[in-house]
Amino acid sequence: MFSTRVKLTAAFVAGLIAITITLFLAILAARSNAVYHDIAQYAAAQGDLAARVITDADQAGEAVMATSDTALIPLLTPRLANRLQSVPGYIVVVDTAGRAVYRSPDVMRLQGIDMTTLQTQLQDLPQSGEALIFSLDSLQEKVLFVSHSLAGSPRGLSRIASGALATRATAVPREYMLDAVIIVSLIIGAGGVGAFVYLGSPQRQLAQITTEMAAITDGRSLHRRLSLGAEATDFSDLTTTLNAMIARLEMSFAGLRRFTADASHELKTPLAVLRADVERAMMESSSQTERMVALEEALQEVRRMSDLVESLLTLARADEGRFDLHREPVELQPLVQEVYETALILGEAQGVTVNLPFTADVMVMGDRTRLRQLFLNLVTNAIKYTPAGGKVELGLGRHPDNVTFAVRDTGIGISAADFPHIFERFWRADRVRSRMSERGGFGLGLAISQWIAQAHGGTLTASSRLGRGSLFTVTLPLGGDGQRQ
Ligand code: ADP
Repeated sequence: MFSTRVKLTAAFVAGLIAITITLFLAILAARSNAVYHDIAQYAAAQGDLAARVITDADQAGEAVMATSDTALIPLLTPRLANRLQSVPGYIVVVDTAGRAVYRSPDVMRLQGIDMTTLQTQLQDLPQSGEALIFSLDSLQEKVLFVSHSLAGSPRGLSRIASGALATRATAVPREYMLDAVIIVSLIIGAGGVGAFVYLGSPQRQLAQITTEMAAITDGRSLHRRLSLGAEATDFSDLTTTLNAMIARLEMSFAGLRRFTADASHELKTPLAVLRADVERAMMESSSQTERMVALEEALQEVRRMSDLVESLLTLARADEGRFDLHREPVELQPLVQEVYETALILGEAQGVTVNLPFTADVMVMGDRTRLRQLFLNLVTNAIKYTPAGGKVELGLGRHPDNVTFAVRDTGIGISAADFPHIFERFWRADRVRSRMSERGGFGLGLAISQWIAQAHGGTLTASSRLGRGSLFTVTLPLGGDGQRQ
């Protein structure tokens, strides 16, 4: 297969050939037009000269026509004919009956067949001064004739047809052809070489981008970028776009690696605990009670792992864009009331006061189970991260365009340094402590909550101050027919 460089050069050369040939033909046409005019002018001048000879003789009172009765065709007087012979070229004087009363020596030299052609062609010769070109076989030439009117004076004569050889007006001179072929070949050759050389630069740049891309995308070099030369080239935009793509790939590969490492790490701890519990339960020296305690603990770890796997599956589906949401009109007030009642029980166990000072009668289009999961995540976090004696407040509000569900707590809050990470997967403000303590989340709750809010066309936002508490707000678009007050 030909390279793009060769194909583009070929297209350029083809264009060049077409343009040069068109130009050549145009020059040729212009040139033959000019020669044609020159010849026509020359012929007309000879005609004028002949006419002047005749009219001068007539005006001087000389006889114009021979008066011999024996002649079948009337002729000019021999004296006048003699004088006319000094006018060179093909001259034919025609009388009013269309008969040739004088033929110049050049005309007389024509052979029979050409004489007939001349006779018929001259009958068609336009009076207007327009020229007529036709071939004469015996001469193997073309001749051009123009007509000169003699109407009026002297009596009996109609016009003079004067002609000159015209082959050079229609034929392309050989040396001209040779020049043209040399010039055209030079132009095409130079153009082709020029185009090929010029196209070499983009081809080299493209080849360089391809080589660098191949080296980068081997999987281990995503930190590298394509080199952008100092000068802007046709490929600068492409290079910038590819670099941006590599950066995004690098980020998502890093995210994927971190996610896999975190997930395996999170599974490692409960698996180790589970193994220890099972070994303890299987020890012969263990009492029945000890065995029951070990199995109870093992069951708890299994539940924990199930929760983790469930959360990971949810996020994996969200990443794939498979939002398995079962949308239906959902009355939020009863849902929030339900969440509030659960929160009361959880809060009581933690020594945290839970309040629901205001709710609104609102409806959204959504997945009831997912919305409950979202609200419960925020409420359990608020209770989890609020020490005994603190307060957690829930609120459901209706606004002109949307609905908000807010959870405010007076808990430990989040530091400014930690805050940007709270929606990241597996992120926890204090990993060690939260895994060891009964708080023990996986750091996936807020990531899932954010996905649920976004999958409903809404948002999850937060604000927090370390030691002062946090506020998490879910905003959902109003939906369904029942947009009530
Ligand atoms: P976890 O299961 O660890 O709670 P989340 O994704 O729900 O995971 O939360 C991520 C981290 O954000 C938590 O580990 C905690 O450090 C912080 N966080 C979440 N909610 C609150 C809150 N109400 N108060 C203080 N910190 C919070």
